[in-house]
Amino acid sequence: MMNDRKTLREAKKDRRIKKEKIVEKTNKLNRKQQLLKKTAEQRMIFKNLTIEWQEKLYDPVDSTILQESAKYLLPHQYQEVIEERNAYNLCGYPLCSNNK
Ligand SMILES: [Zn+2]
Repeated sequence: MMNDRKTLREAKKDRRIKKEKIVEKTNKLNRKQQLLKKTAEQRMIFKNLTIEWQEKLYDPVDSTILQESAKYLLPHQYQEVIEERNAYNLCGYPLCSNNK
């Protein structure tokens, strides 16, 4: 019957629209997940940079390196450098090569 066929076609169309909406929702989730992944990656990069700069300061350095490190280290991260140096019986000041 003509009427049944139309209904069938409409039902098919409805299913297709529903499917498209689900795909759209999934893509949105993926974008959010991608953003989270990117954020996590950036956090990892910053963390590695921090560790890299902290390690540079464990040995006595010149003032240029100490100044540069200020761009990458937060005060509490610099404090960790002092503690680490002291743990190895070194003066906490990265320019100094004396024992503490
Ligand atoms: Zn010193």
